[in-house]
Amino acid sequence: MSEVESVEKFRALSPSEFFYRNREIAGFSNPARALYQTVRELVENALDATDTHHILPDIKVIIKSENSEGLKTSTASVEDSEGYEGILYSVQVEDNGIGLPPQHVPRAFGQLLYSSKYVLRQSRGMFGLGAKMAILYGQITTGKPAEVITSQILSKKIYYFKVSIDIASNTPIIHEFSIMDKSNEWHGTVVKTYLIGDWQRSKQKIYDYLRRTAIIAPYANIFFEDPEGNIVMFRRSTEEMPVPPREVKPHPYGVDVELLKRMLADTNTKTLLEFLVREFQHIGELTATKILENAKLKPNLKPSELTLNDITELMRSIKTFKIKAPSGKHLSFLGETLIVLGLRETLKPEYAAAVTRKANVYEGHAFVVEAGIAYGGKIPSVDKPLLLRYANKIPLLYDESADVMRKVVDTIEWNRYGVTLPAQLAVLIHICSTKVPYKGVGKEAVADVPEVEKEIELAVREVARKLKSYLARKAKEYEEAEKAVTIAKYIPDIARSLHILSDSKFSQENLEKELLQLLNKKLTMLKIKALKDIVVEVS
Ligand code: ADP
Ligand code: MG
Repeated sequence: MSEVESVEKFRALSPSEFFYRNREIAGFSNPARALYQTVRELVENALDATDTHHILPDIKVIIKSENSEGLKTSTASVEDSEGYEGILYSVQVEDNGIGLPPQHVPRAFGQLLYSSKYVLRQSRGMFGLGAKMAILYGQITTGKPAEVITSQILSKKIYYFKVSIDIASNTPIIHEFSIMDKSNEWHGTVVKTYLIGDWQRSKQKIYDYLRRTAIIAPYANIFFEDPEGNIVMFRRSTEEMPVPPREVKPHPYGVDVELLKRMLADTNTKTLLEFLVREFQHIGELTATKILENAKLKPNLKPSELTLNDITELMRSIKTFKIKAPSGKHLSFLGETLIVLGLRETLKPEYAAAVTRKANVYEGHAFVVEAGIAYGGKIPSVDKPLLLRYANKIPLLYDESADVMRKVVDTIEWNRYGVTLPAQLAVLIHICSTKVPYKGVGKEAVADVPEVEKEIELAVREVARKLKSYLARKAKEYEEAEKAVTIAKYIPDIARSLHILSDSKFSQENLEKELLQLLNKKLTMLKIKALKDIVVEVS
């Protein structure tokens, strides 16, 4: 060993400082990506605050290029290592959601890893990072705090906060605070952040993001004003909303020693038996008794009295019992009608179909996979199927090649389903779960979890079969139509012969008309355009 003493310096990082140093892992890697990510995180929060609570979303997104006056010149424009140069923008997102209780606003927006979504309920947010990362990135690139205006549904007040993050201590700094009386029924939240962004380089992605959000949330109104002054309105095409997600208790197969320990410490139940029955999904008294017998634990033991050994034993015992899989009833998926509607409205295809699979389970988490398919019409011809990826109703736009959804779509032999690539083909995949297995906190790609991969494949194949039968039907109808066109050519001859055969009892003209009508009727039954159109097309 060397004689020299180690001079390593040790210290701890606060979560804010960690994410300040590693902001790219949450999607804030450069001014373009940061602008996109800011819009995305704020829109996600806006949607979570509305549709999750069965409110038809009315969302307003405004990005403005701000005059950099009042900013230190050094931060008015930054160039990063990839040569991205940004300028000052403000991003404002307003929703008509449930609003926030004022006492939670400072931490919800000024403390990383503070969230109301750390519960077993499907939501877009799950890490407790999104809004804070946008604010953090904003404050480090512009020095400006964020502004939040919020009012809850039954509240008579509107609250205003100017907030930023103390990075070293991961605590909120409140710069301004005021309360106003509310004279109308407005409820919801407005969040405004300032950042150095790059609109030109993120424009396409931001539009894509909003367009894809409109596909998966056809019941939302989304107003967008871009920094060039263009205004786009993604109008709702239906008022029908999916059933909102519900919070559930953990499934026994989803717990580990740590979670079990925490649940035992937090529970209000008096006995171990009661704890198992009340705090978990799908454990009845009989199963609970057996689990405890198997673990050699007394049913009337107080939950707080268990030793670490007891807890490990209890967990082992739980996992040896066959327990009904989580049902997925608490999940909020879109359903076939809404997916088809979304695809039709936005892609204007010739054909669209969708399937929603039954719930399945991975590591104790229920999940539902839905798939949609759109073909022809205004979809551009592509070498690989255009893929629209969604997780908990969030469009995923980056890291497509790392996503298990892309992997599955690329392994499908499309010609088995009547499609020869390149083709005008789009596939939509949506996974919803109380815990989506994302590859990173930026929530851009779904990991290759075998159960999930399998379900995705089954969903895509199922919906591809629908396309296949549509294409087969269409081919058959064309065949019939072609036959009809051939027959139609002989009609004048046949009519003339019949006219002669009938000793001129029937006029040739009437016979021709009737024969054509007969043929047309058959084609109408096949849902093919009237014969005269086809004849015109052919001649
Ligand atoms: P996450 O969405 O992962 O929970 P965020 O940092 O994006 O993390 O948001 C933190 C919390 O702030 C949310 O859990 C939510 O309770 C609250 N919140 C953020 N935006 C809104 C909003 N527009 N309306 C209501 N609540 C919001
Ligand atoms: Mg969020």
